Amino acid sequence: MRSRLRTVGSDRAVSRRRKALAGRGAVSWGGAMRRSQELFDRAQRYIPGGVNSPVRSFRSVGGTPPFIVRGRGAYVTSADGRRYLDYLGSWGALLLGHAEPSVVRAVRRAAQRGTSFGAPTPGEVELAQLITRLVPSIDQVRLVNSGTEAVMSAVRVARAATGRDLIIKFAGGYHGHADHLLVDAGSGAASLGVPSSAGVPSRVAGLTLVVPYNDSKAVRRLVHRHHGKVAAVLVEPIAGNMGVVPPQDGFLRGLRVLCDAERALLIFDEVITGFRVALGGAQALYGVRPDLTCLGKIIGGGLPVGAYGGRRDLMSRVAPSGPVYQAGTLAGNPVAVAAGLAMLQRLVADPPYRRLEHLTLQLCRAVEREAQRAGVSLVAQRVGSMFTWFMGERPPRNEQDVRATDAARFSQFFHAMLAEGVYLAPSPFEANFLSTAHGDREVERTIRAARRAFRNVRG
Ligand code: PMP
Repeated sequence: MRSRLRTVGSDRAVSRRRKALAGRGAVSWGGAMRRSQELFDRAQRYIPGGVNSPVRSFRSVGGTPPFIVRGRGAYVTSADGRRYLDYLGSWGALLLGHAEPSVVRAVRRAAQRGTSFGAPTPGEVELAQLITRLVPSIDQVRLVNSGTEAVMSAVRVARAATGRDLIIKFAGGYHGHADHLLVDAGSGAASLGVPSSAGVPSRVAGLTLVVPYNDSKAVRRLVHRHHGKVAAVLVEPIAGNMGVVPPQDGFLRGLRVLCDAERALLIFDEVITGFRVALGGAQALYGVRPDLTCLGKIIGGGLPVGAYGGRRDLMSRVAPSGPVYQAGTLAGNPVAVAAGLAMLQRLVADPPYRRLEHLTLQLCRAVEREAQRAGVSLVAQRVGSMFTWFMGERPPRNEQDVRATDAARFSQFFHAMLAEGVYLAPSPFEANFLSTAHGDREVERTIRAARRAFRNVRG
């Protein structure tokens, strides 16, 4: 494990970066962001780094994050009164956009009946049944409060079922912040330059083996070297936490075959991709059936929900049916479940996937064209409505390729877009998301913004 914690954003470095960005006119530190700046200054006194999740801090792009006070449809409004066209979508959770009326109605109704009981509620049964209907590999599902919990618990089930300890994950894959999964992790850990975390015992991290994404041979070699000891291969079927990197042809299928041969379990972490790329998730899109699946984000409709599920013989090992302990005071919370149900019911009634795919394709192609015209090297990677604009010449296949893209140029582009009122994920190593509230008008607006933004980006 690399346990070195590299502090990328020392205060002096951050302040230097701020000045440089302000000098380029990319960020307004004056009136336009005054309220957010005040809030951020105050936040930093009371909350580590001023945020409750690292990547919100803008450390990897520099500058002050706008504090958001409300959202509607495809737009959010900051405490400074600025309106942004939003491609963050609460990191993918908001497939129907902000404050979608049916979700808000469901939340209000549920809250009026009581916010938590710590006892079973009918909504949980309905949500679990719907998930198992939509994702055929899931016979039984357990609701938890976050993606982190979902993956942590799925790994525990895999270890219990196989009687083995080792886990294989992919470099740049992020699966939440459980000790054994913070090894060569993407997302905030990638953008902070913290490949793993301080405080993770090396003996724990040593149980997690890491290989490059999309490298079937490397996985095979690793599994053979540790023959009989690998409990599970854990993968984001479409990598999202190093930016969007799709699986190459046969990669996921190869993992399935390998796991079967080695009697290891295949765990798909579909916290991002579940209900994002298809109703049945990435596993439906690529036709590969995992043993266990982790879900989050969309199934909570913007409230905190995660889930893990899979084959009945595996899930029946979970307490109280079996010996794998996992619990939660607020798990299956009635308000969160109501939001998730409302969201999934809308998706079932009117699946938006084809339209979203078309719109995202249009957006990505047009922005690539604009970049080309401006002499800026940019490649779009996309699956369905999730995309990343990498500042480079070639489509990245793995974390190493991603890290070779130009992060400094991405920061320029990011801030130029923000100044144009377009809010992208604040890191070169993250996915952006469209929602059903995005339409042609939003796409055209983004293309125009990008055209102007490229003038502030050095090719
Ligand atoms: N797995 C994946 C693929 C994720 O993208 C994330 C969060 N971005 C997680 C797990 C962890 O989820 P949470 O932040 O809800 O704990």
